Amino acid sequence: MSFISRMGSVFNSLEIPPCAVKSSFEDCGEMNKHFKTEYTATVQNIGAEYEGNIKKDKAAVLPDIPKLTVTNPSRLQRLRPASVTGTVASILLDPVNESTTLFCTEINASGRSSSPPLSQNKFVMTTPEKSPSLTPQQTFQTFDIPPSPTEFSPFKLDAIRKINSAIKNLDYESICSIVESCNVPIPGALGPHPSLKPEDPPIVVASTLLKGPSKTFALKAIKYFLIKGACPDICDHSGYSAFHWAAVLGSVEGMRVLHEGKADSNIKCMYSGETPLHRACRYGKFEAVSALLSEFGADPCSLNREANQPLDVVATHVGSSNAKATVNARDSVRTLFFSIKPSMATLILYHPDCLDHRTVEGHQESPRRINAILKHLMDENNFEPNELKFCDAFPRASFETVRRAHSSKYVRFVYKLSQRFLCKTPRSSRRIEAFTPRVQEEVQHLPTSKSKPQNSCDTNFSNGSLSASLRSAGSVCFAIDKVIKGENRNAFCVVRPPGHHAGWDGYVAQSVSCGFCIFNSVAIGAMHALSYHQEIIKRIAIVDIDVHHGNGTEEIIKKINRPDQLFFSSIHLFDENFYPGSGESDSIEFNIVNIPIAPIWRFRNQNNFSDFPKSYESDGVTGRHAFKNQIVQRLLPSLRAFNPDLVLVSVGYDAAKYDIGNKREGNRNGDVGMDLSKDDYFWAVSQLKSIANLVCKGRLVMVLEGIHA
Ligand SMILES: [Zn+2]
Repeated sequence: MSFISRMGSVFNSLEIPPCAVKSSFEDCGEMNKHFKTEYTATVQNIGAEYEGNIKKDKAAVLPDIPKLTVTNPSRLQRLRPASVTGTVASILLDPVNESTTLFCTEINASGRSSSPPLSQNKFVMTTPEKSPSLTPQQTFQTFDIPPSPTEFSPFKLDAIRKINSAIKNLDYESICSIVESCNVPIPGALGPHPSLKPEDPPIVVASTLLKGPSKTFALKAIKYFLIKGACPDICDHSGYSAFHWAAVLGSVEGMRVLHEGKADSNIKCMYSGETPLHRACRYGKFEAVSALLSEFGADPCSLNREANQPLDVVATHVGSSNAKATVNARDSVRTLFFSIKPSMATLILYHPDCLDHRTVEGHQESPRRINAILKHLMDENNFEPNELKFCDAFPRASFETVRRAHSSKYVRFVYKLSQRFLCKTPRSSRRIEAFTPRVQEEVQHLPTSKSKPQNSCDTNFSNGSLSASLRSAGSVCFAIDKVIKGENRNAFCVVRPPGHHAGWDGYVAQSVSCGFCIFNSVAIGAMHALSYHQEIIKRIAIVDIDVHHGNGTEEIIKKINRPDQLFFSSIHLFDENFYPGSGESDSIEFNIVNIPIAPIWRFRNQNNFSDFPKSYESDGVTGRHAFKNQIVQRLLPSLRAFNPDLVLVSVGYDAAKYDIGNKREGNRNGDVGMDLSKDDYFWAVSQLKSIANLVCKGRLVMVLEGIHA
């Protein structure tokens, strides 16, 4: 959901007419194109439109509407006492001061605006253009408005003290008699949980007792408060409702009473954005998670403020991460999740055809790397049962599907090259051809003198290569279909040959090789999604985290030239003599963001002071700190601003410490370039997953590019 549509929910809470909210949704696409200007105009128009309606309807009694600046959510709650019949809201963006002000005006029963203003504070949001270093979560803070807490008179406070004492003594009869005699509709009370305050609602206070010997009392008290008209969704000062507390305490009975009392099982905490399911997951409450998912209709995809789904926070509040209780809680809750919601599983696609693309003896890009990855994924010690769904039943990409990302003459050339193996003797059909010079000569018509010498060619073609390439591209299309249909929340295509160096005509001019690639699977997948799912998928982002620049993908994106639909960003090592030598700068007109990282070897070799290299690395000039800084500062903000409907990731693991891709000029003993760790990759993919959660229901498909033996 876009930022402005989230703001729509604020308008909704403020009783802005649906027409105004609707227009804010419709303007999302335009807004993204011209972010700052459209944003201002759209928001101001909404306010003006509603204000105009009010003036027209009530012109006689509303001579002028003073504007009231409102800020924090607790102030907003106070804007809704019973005497108010309507609230006018408008928002003004101030790009100079990087702030947004929410203006609200109350109109009371007589049609007059209330006076004096209730608050002069400001609710401030920072615009993303002004602070590119902010993480998306910081940039797009929003809030929901919970029911307002009861205002207490001195007389009622006296009654509340008596009720507090009765609750502490678990004295149900006294609570009833105090409530009846004082006629307090929704009494407050001091709760036994130390975090609660005097003004916290009693139904929430009672819910903190839903465990141990006080459980029966708490259930009875909650039922009583519901009968007496307590709002079931009222929240305490921390933003948690009785449902949140029942979930944290693992009380299925408590949740059932609240559910029957029409409490919202997907209510979000106004500060943390967490639902009862988030809370039950955090505290590892197996029974509560089970009941929430299967009985109370909890949404497994709801997001908290950090764009995490409940599954992402399982057992984070049980104990230290390696403690036995934590591990057990994590395993049992996650296993439960995947058995109740099979669509939460990650789809893993692989195929034996991909092993039939043969390369010369000792080649870095060999079938062994697929087998090594699959072995790890299939080891049941590494994942929960049903967490991964393996699949090898998917079709090869068709000629027409491949054609969407490559020229017709190139695709025909590859098909013909494959046919040459058919009529050979068994021995010669096992021949391995040098691919790059053939493409240069037969597709791009370079003279032999200018093409790559056969004996130094590192991109191979064998009798299984066409089939493997079509199967790889087919896996991406299949994964995209599954994820868009919601049958899997994300997918990883463990396929080869890789594809991101394959350009429109195969070989990309100025590079020295086809880079082990034949068809560009990720680009083919993107074009498939735009062709077959145009109702849902309007914009696709391709992110490339292989150590080498995704020059083939970039060339195809430029050739297709649809910057309103396609975004490409590659983060890679960039240095003289480092393949492919492109990707130094952006191409804004094509929506391409290139993030070159200077290799560690450049700094280690340029000075003689032993403490210098370390500071270059820790200062984020080079190496893993530069990789992470640049993802936070450039990749994530631009990806979030593009607001894709689907995120595709070309994932290469060749920037890892021991991979040959991380070494200077492909020399196994060479100097290191990026030195990423396993944790760095986990972090990077988690960041991309968070953005996908935030903008496109977590739709993320990863495609294997480089990882070398
Ligand atoms: Zn690579």
